[in-house]
Amino acid sequence: MNILITGGSGFIGSHLSEKLLINGENKLFLLDNLLTGNINNIAHLEKDRVIFIEHDVQDHIEIDEKIDFVFHFASAASPVAYTEHPVNTLKAGSIGTINTLGLAKKHNAEYFLASTSEVYGDPLITPQTEEYWGNVNPNGERSMYDEAKRFAEAATATYARTYNIKTKIVRIFNTYGPRMQLNDGRVVTNLIVQALNNEDITIYGDGSQTRSFSYVDDTVAGILALMESDKYDVFNIGNPNEMSIKELSSVILKLTESKSKLIYKDLPNDDPKQRKPDITKAKENLNWEPKVDLESGLTLTIDWIKKELAK
Ligand code: UDP
Repeated sequence: MNILITGGSGFIGSHLSEKLLINGENKLFLLDNLLTGNINNIAHLEKDRVIFIEHDVQDHIEIDEKIDFVFHFASAASPVAYTEHPVNTLKAGSIGTINTLGLAKKHNAEYFLASTSEVYGDPLITPQTEEYWGNVNPNGERSMYDEAKRFAEAATATYARTYNIKTKIVRIFNTYGPRMQLNDGRVVTNLIVQALNNEDITIYGDGSQTRSFSYVDDTVAGILALMESDKYDVFNIGNPNEMSIKELSSVILKLTESKSKLIYKDLPNDDPKQRKPDITKAKENLNWEPKVDLESGLTLTIDWIKKELAK
């Protein structure tokens, strides 16, 4: 298959590309504006089956060869990154989704949208099932991301109904692992870098807010399971192992054998208090579930970050 991946040189996009090259005779068209993606993430991939296109999804996309499958993953995705690039984030989720859907329509390709647990906002129910419609501040400080992704889901569903495009949507919950950007402000990278440098560990708020962290290999396995399935539907993919940010910090301090102390900073506005995926639907329909426990995943991530810091 000829597969287009927007955000192909990003964190999840690059891991997905790696697996798609192993799994079959695929040829990949990796489109990225390199705003938060990094060309080094894909430097190791087989050159004759990978075409890199530096392009922003908010601009019209033309691919001369026939495309069979479109993954739309392009977007800034960390709170720090989308706050730094608010309009680009808004356009990647809105105009970028319309452009990639238009391309899928023209090529008669299947379409796969990377959505996010952020569509649930600050959820009032837990765990979050796919049926939950969310609790989102439509004009809050995260809205350029949350609402753009909600629009992206609406656009995907509308194109599917109107033009009979075969579409799938994955709602990705907090994913971590090698090739995350070390400076994009996410909790896993921030805390590991701080712990390794024996700097203060920054806890926002009182650290009682929860997240559920999925190792990137598990997330990508879920994405591939959905890709290969005959389900044209919405699925949560994540690890239901929920913990508070304070609990996460003690695991990281233990694994890095760090002497860092915790310091408390203001909780950002609209920071969700809890987040935990209900993955029953994915387990039953995709025969997928996460396999990597937190300590193993963090150990792999810490080893990678140590190497990055030593560069
Ligand atoms: N957080 C923190 N310290 C940091 C970075 C983040 O306490 O140095 C908190 C943040 O307030 C949020 C959680 O960790 O409650 C996860 O933040 P992240 O930016 O990783 O992603 P989010 O799940 O909010 O999109």
